[in-house]
Amino acid sequence: MTQLPDSHQDAGGIRCRDAAGLVCEARDRELVPDERAALDAHLAVCPYCKVASRQFAALFEQLDELLGKTQSRPE
Ligand SMILES: [Zn+2]
Repeated sequence: MTQLPDSHQDAGGIRCRDAAGLVCEARDRELVPDERAALDAHLAVCPYCKVASRQFAALFEQLDELLGKTQSRPE
């Protein structure tokens, strides 16, 4: 079960767990416009997911940086 606030359940047409899933998926693939729009709409009205997505982005950025430093890039 989720502990996220019910008031944000359908923000942007998707739920918080869907938004979190999209944030993660966006790392692996390009989101289709519908997904992108739904995620943006959700983040616009859901402070929780907005903060979470920022933290995700910062975390992945650090990971990319770490991996980039330890792995040689193929030319
Ligand atoms: Zn949310």
